[in-house]
Amino acid sequence: MKTEQTTNESPIALDIPKPLDQLSDVELDRKSCIGRVMTYTLSNMTNYFTVNGFQWLLPVALSRSTDPLWPDPGASIDKRIEVDIYGETVRTTSSMIVHKLIASSLAYPKLFILSPNIRIEKAERARTGRHVYEFTQLDFEARGATSSDIMRLVEDAVSGLVESLKKDGGEDLRLLGRYDALKVTKRPFATYDAAKLEEEYGSDWEAKLVGEIKEPTWVINIPREFYDFEDFDSGRWDNYDLMMPGYGEVLSGSRRECEYEKMLAKMDRENVRKENFALILKLAKEGRVKPTAGAGIGIERIVGWITGAKHIGETQPFPKVPGTVYEL
Ligand code: ATP
Ligand code: ASP
Ligand code: MG
Repeated sequence: MKTEQTTNESPIALDIPKPLDQLSDVELDRKSCIGRVMTYTLSNMTNYFTVNGFQWLLPVALSRSTDPLWPDPGASIDKRIEVDIYGETVRTTSSMIVHKLIASSLAYPKLFILSPNIRIEKAERARTGRHVYEFTQLDFEARGATSSDIMRLVEDAVSGLVESLKKDGGEDLRLLGRYDALKVTKRPFATYDAAKLEEEYGSDWEAKLVGEIKEPTWVINIPREFYDFEDFDSGRWDNYDLMMPGYGEVLSGSRRECEYEKMLAKMDRENVRKENFALILKLAKEGRVKPTAGAGIGIERIVGWITGAKHIGETQPFPKVPGTVYEL
């Protein structure tokens, strides 16, 4: 989550990543180096989740139901892609949140997916350096888990990744000038409450926080989509974002809403089209949506942070920069 005036939105002059065929030899070497870090990250993280008992599900591209991405104070979607097939309207995956909640509740208690997400971000988001219009989340969910279980799991994953990458991929990190800067020494990570950050820093809190922290840091209690757990009495949200120093958000997640009445009330409050979420509502009504918690790590974001890429399109072989459509 973010507001519209974060560092991420600032109109800094930023080179827009070019397609492979337009890169110089030096730029191709850098691309290849970032590519090795990407390979290491994918291998390390998928291994981490499988050894921790998570089943690996393959992603889907088209469904009737996908993440509404609403309400999110930072959402900036230019258009949604819907297409008719077999007489039904389907949408390209914006995130597999609904699939995760149902899959974890019914058949795969602990699961993860490398899930391609299509979000046609507004063209001005090319300048944030943190948005592309196609990206991949390592999206995971665990039945019966608490927020704190997930936060500790992520802390281990991130610390383990940085530690082993420094050991096995130190040469690449040095080439990228990132070896010394990459530090994850403290666990648990520091945690800030979004409501307090807003009081202290105003709506621009994300940029200010990210400019001050020196290590990965959690922000909790962020108002957003219906599937994150909200305590209707206190108004507090049981959710979390992981922020990287000098960089910004790389992960969002939460304990989930699983009660039918609450889901319905939130959809009504937020004008979310209930007909697009008929299945999860039906299952919740039948008591078949179980308490789960999980999160999604933006793969290009975390590799962008590790490698110091100015624009996350640099981490993609075929950059998908908002506002620019290349042949590949
Ligand atoms: P942001 O506020 O930074 O725009 P978000 O909060 O809208 O992101 P989420 O819906 O929380 O994004 O998506 C989960 C994760 O996917 C984010 O934490 C981030 O790592 C990644 N992500 C989201 N949007 C993009 C994008 N356009 N390009 C690359 N990665 C993204
Ligand atoms: N992946 C996120 C989560 O697990 C949801 C999202 O992508 O918006 O909460
Ligand atoms: Mg988020």
